[in-house]
Amino acid sequence: MMDLLLALWVVAAFLVLAGLVGLVLPGIPGAPVLFAGLLCAAWAERFRHVGWKTLLALALLALSTYGVDLLTTAAGARTFGASKRAILGAIVGGGIGLFFGIPGVLLGPFVGAAFGELTARRDVPAAARAGVGATLGLLLGAVAKLAIGVSMVGLFVAVRVVSAGERPAENQAWYEPTEPIRIVGPIHYVGTRELGAYLITTPAGHILLDGAMPGAAPQIEASIRKLGFEPEQIRILLITHAHADHVGTLAHFKRLTGASVAVMAADAPLLASGGNTDYLYASDPKLHFEPVTADRLLKDGDAVSLGGIELTARHTPGHTPGCTTWRTTVEEGGRSYAVVFPGSTSVNPGTRLVHDPSYPGIANDYRLALGVLESLEPDIFLPAHASFFDYAGKRARAATEGAQAFVDREGYRRRIAAQRATFEAQVTEEEQADGEPGT
Ligand SMILES: [Zn+2]
Ligand SMILES: [Zn+2]
Repeated sequence: MMDLLLALWVVAAFLVLAGLVGLVLPGIPGAPVLFAGLLCAAWAERFRHVGWKTLLALALLALSTYGVDLLTTAAGARTFGASKRAILGAIVGGGIGLFFGIPGVLLGPFVGAAFGELTARRDVPAAARAGVGATLGLLLGAVAKLAIGVSMVGLFVAVRVVSAGERPAENQAWYEPTEPIRIVGPIHYVGTRELGAYLITTPAGHILLDGAMPGAAPQIEASIRKLGFEPEQIRILLITHAHADHVGTLAHFKRLTGASVAVMAADAPLLASGGNTDYLYASDPKLHFEPVTADRLLKDGDAVSLGGIELTARHTPGHTPGCTTWRTTVEEGGRSYAVVFPGSTSVNPGTRLVHDPSYPGIANDYRLALGVLESLEPDIFLPAHASFFDYAGKRARAATEGAQAFVDREGYRRRIAAQRATFEAQVTEEEQADGEPGT
């Protein structure tokens, strides 16, 4: 079903070509067809790059071709004294000429106009002049319309390229591929260099936790295959929170596998909105993603089980209303490891915690989340961002130390303490900026 996207692109390309041809040759409504093609192309990317403003400009350009048609035809006719019949004849002649190749296309309007003029005035020199005028008018019109059509494609491409290039430089690592590895027991890292995606394999199929930015699906699939597993065997899809950098490929994997999406109830509306209801990023389409409807809604403490693996969901809200921490226990080499996938407790720039809060109760939510995280004592913690737990360093050591390289109880405590400090500092800063303590 990934073919739906491919089909959209094929249809878009076909319509754009047909539209450009139609702008020159009669018989195809060139401008609307070209516009429809560009609309399909924008749609194929869910309007993330080419949005409604560009599409409105494209629609106006498409409309303007009809004005050009009227102007050039009228100019040709007026200059050469052609009658209405001559102009009608030129159009009909052009249409018939289509069936006779290039000579037909060029001669058709001339013959048609001359014939039309003759039926009106029966004056051969006037008919010849009308034929020349109508033909020139049609040619001039075709050239002008083609120029507009090419400008439309150019505008689309320019907006698309600029938008794609607007990716912040510091986020480059979000998109770069990285070697997948097995971390401990059935848990594998299949994300990008910075964005975690964790494959938990079982005899009954697999669980995928988080999925990086939209567009990362081919990298994640390649990583899964490289480890010797089948992406099609994913049975359950989980997330830590509904931000584009972690759920960007969720819709893709749901389509590919038919897996069940289990989500903390408070993040389900955000997930279903594709990021449109986000308290920070609602108006930033670059951080939107393909919406996903959850199959199962979770509450704090709910368990998700598959093939002998059990993951427990803890509600750790604030970063998003339904931000989730997952914990599980896995075995390796006769030892068991407590593993936690902590939900993010970062306070993103623009978040208001105290006065006019980003959402009612957000500060208490963050405190609840930090309290839950402080109560956990994992041997291994695997956050949604690789830089949050020195994935690169641990992976390098894992080459010789195996799973032990990821055991980092102290690192977990330090990180949660630092998150707590950053959060409380922002609360204090907001309170002082306002001159009175918040509640
Ligand atoms: Zn986030
Ligand atoms: Zn993130």
